[in-house]
Amino acid sequence: MQPYIIQSRRACRHFFKPDSVEQLLTFLDIINDERIKYFVIGNGTNLLFADNGFRGAVIQLSKPAFRTLEIESDSVICGSGVSMIELAYKTAEMGLSGCEYMAGLPGSVGGAIITNAGAFGQDIGNVIEKVESIDITGKRIIFGTNDISFSYRKCSLSQFNTVVTRVFLRLLKEERESVEKRIKEFLSSRDKSHINTANAGSVFKNPANVSAWKLIDGAGLRNVRIGGARVSDKHANVIVNEGNATSRDIKNLIEIVQIKVFEQFGIGLETEIKIVPEVLDAQ
Ligand SMILES: Cc1cc2nc3c(=O)[nH]c(=O)nc-3n(C[C@H](O)[C@H](O)[C@H](O)COP(=O)(O)OP(=O)(O)OC[C@H]3O[C@@H](n4cnc5c(N)ncnc54)[C@H](O)[C@@H]3O)c2cc1C
Repeated sequence: MQPYIIQSRRACRHFFKPDSVEQLLTFLDIINDERIKYFVIGNGTNLLFADNGFRGAVIQLSKPAFRTLEIESDSVICGSGVSMIELAYKTAEMGLSGCEYMAGLPGSVGGAIITNAGAFGQDIGNVIEKVESIDITGKRIIFGTNDISFSYRKCSLSQFNTVVTRVFLRLLKEERESVEKRIKEFLSSRDKSHINTANAGSVFKNPANVSAWKLIDGAGLRNVRIGGARVSDKHANVIVNEGNATSRDIKNLIEIVQIKVFEQFGIGLETEIKIVPEVLDAQ
């Protein structure tokens, strides 16, 4: 799996992977003083950066301090840098249900919280108890379920530029074999629509009561291409990078799909992937 994260050699001004929360706090202090904008990435699987990269600091919590996983009875404390795949398998091993669908999702737990990642009718918001985070001023904040709202591919924390450091989940105890069997079923169902060419998963959110792919397909857009970007023939809600696509190609193709679908069905498609501008307006 190769997400199409950053095409440019000038990817960003600063790329920082802190070794600890303390280092992260110091870094936030420095860049806030310098008025440098920052953007936090997980595994980058849901992102489209600009061709000129990002004029600011990119922070990634992928060092061991952010990849801890503690499981005690039915409760799990998980660093935001843990991959959803690891979380799915480790919790299944302990006979805990609630993360099975994550075994087929390529992102990190931090990214999953902010996008409320999900599949097969479930999402991470269903099993969250608390989210530990750092706000833009460097203050540590713990959000409980009453402080966060999750909806389809959306989490209220995304609007605050919060850095998620750890999440607390409550899962259901079940026979290990049943949980592992469900993982296999989910994976085999996803295998059927697996695309080998680089992509960022579903480009658009499903509008109410209809699948985005059906609208795109209905508008005759399968296989439509701009430069190296092409609407997948295998799954119409995926845009693949055939190797030389620029970010601009992908953005233009997204706009064409939105226009054509609106002309044909009167429905506006909202992007599920996050388009990161070269310059962030306000922070
Ligand atoms: C092939 C493929 C299949 C996919 N299938 C699915 C699917 O079935 N269901 C689904 O929901 N998604 C799917 N996705 C999308 C993606 O995997 C999820 O959205 C995932 O949760 C993103 O995680 P990430 O770590 O890659 O986040 P990124 O893409 O790096 O970031 C996503 C967002 O989260 C924010 N973020 C990341 N980490 C943190 C943090 N620690 N603190 C604060 N903000 C943070 C970023 O700023 C950004 O806004 C798929 C993607 C691909 C490539």
